[in-house]
Amino acid sequence: MPAPLTLVETDAGLQRSADAVVIGAGIVGVFTAYYLAKRGLKVALIEKGRVGAEQSSRNWGWCRQQNRDARELPMATKSLDLWESFAEESGEDTGFRRCGLLYLSDSEEELAGWARWRDFARTVGVSTHMLDSSEASERGKATRRIWKGGVFSPTDGTADPASAAPAVARAIVKLGGTVLQNCAARGIEMEGGRLSAVVTEHGTIRTKIAILSGGAWASSFCRQLGIRFPQASTRSSILSIGPGEGDLPDALHTARVSVTRRGDGGHTLAISGRGRVDVTAQNMRFATQFLPMFMRRWRSLSPGGLEGIRSGHESLARWRLDRPTPMEHMRILDPAVDASTIKLTYDRAVELLPEIGKRRITASWAGYIDSTPDGVPAIGEVASVPGFILAAGFSGHGFGIGPGAGHLIADIVTASTPIVDPVPYHPKRFESSSWGKVADF
Ligand SMILES: Cc1cc2nc3c(=O)[nH]c(=O)nc-3n(C[C@H](O)[C@H](O)[C@H](O)COP(=O)(O)OP(=O)(O)OC[C@H]3O[C@@H](n4cnc5c(N)ncnc54)[C@H](O)[C@@H]3O)c2cc1C
Repeated sequence: MPAPLTLVETDAGLQRSADAVVIGAGIVGVFTAYYLAKRGLKVALIEKGRVGAEQSSRNWGWCRQQNRDARELPMATKSLDLWESFAEESGEDTGFRRCGLLYLSDSEEELAGWARWRDFARTVGVSTHMLDSSEASERGKATRRIWKGGVFSPTDGTADPASAAPAVARAIVKLGGTVLQNCAARGIEMEGGRLSAVVTEHGTIRTKIAILSGGAWASSFCRQLGIRFPQASTRSSILSIGPGEGDLPDALHTARVSVTRRGDGGHTLAISGRGRVDVTAQNMRFATQFLPMFMRRWRSLSPGGLEGIRSGHESLARWRLDRPTPMEHMRILDPAVDASTIKLTYDRAVELLPEIGKRRITASWAGYIDSTPDGVPAIGEVASVPGFILAAGFSGHGFGIGPGAGHLIADIVTASTPIVDPVPYHPKRFESSSWGKVADF
């Protein structure tokens, strides 16, 4: 079942030329196109299915600095400001609110980890509050129990996954950019050693710059261009409940289950980190690089099935530019829900917050979360294809940092001072045999 999503109607025809073509209208693609359009560039955003219909509408909506890896924290901090300024300057509502994020625990080990992160965060000017038992139990009073401790990050927040990407798409159109849905990019053309056009199922767009913000499809697209981008995905299943009586928290994480208020007043219920690893040709290809990450998460990951092969996003097939590609066969990646996870999540949520038992389950869905081997996104121009910028592998954190990523890409394209240091994100780190440090949190 697809996750709830506001449909945005766009009736643009195919542009024959553009200053920049953005491929994929998830949260990263829409913010990239938005910041490029704001700078006066003629932008074409093309999406094989619907704006926001893959990962960007299937997530919890957390926009957090809390527990972020040091390499990603600057982008997370900038993104929180950008979520706010986007609303002010565009008049569009993404549902973003700095409601603060609450983490509760009974584990000394977990609490010690959060305290270590708090100490590190202080050194870069980010504040977060460790809670002792009485503070944690008070903040988490909806759970009606005593907690050993917790942490509250007051400057973090949530946006609404159902409406955020569509809101940004509307803002792009207001700025004169075009958004074309049901249009897959099949490949690119090169001229004089650099990118000269993007070939789509509906025709060719002349351009010198293409940004691939294709989420879980990015590696297979790169493969067509001779670019080796190590990427793997895990299938995560979650559910939503409708609004109702009782005061449920805005955003609460516990090791057993997490709860987040949605834009419609309902809540999303999920188990952090839990997912299935489906067998695909691409997963096998990059297995060695991803082994350290999967080993770290072995408690919460379990083997999946053939769902990934059916979906086609991790195929190693080579495709032709004049024939339908796997992306046109799968307009919206909508993988099968893991029923046992949904049941477990709901049972744990009711146990944690009995009020949830009085609410109606409104939907359940699954999403493929695309990752890089070190858990940090790949953002940057690929040296072997001048003019081609990769922006994928957001490793389960891309919704919150979508604005910062989009801004950084616009900075790279327009050769402006980058909003954050781009070096930690550059995909060239995957060329070496050392894969860097796997993200701590
Ligand atoms: C269950 C779940 C919970 C999560 N929770 C959080 C959270 O709380 N906070 C957080 O920050 N992140 C979270 N994430 C991760 C977050 O959703 C992703 O990192 C983020 O949405 C990635 O955005 P994206 O734009 O890169 O990719 P996507 O949203 O997947 O968008 C990629 C788009 O590209 C399109 N596309 C691909 N190839 C082509 C092509 N060739 N031509 C045209 N279009 C193409 C696809 O159709 C798709 O619409 C979660 C993810 C899941 C699944």
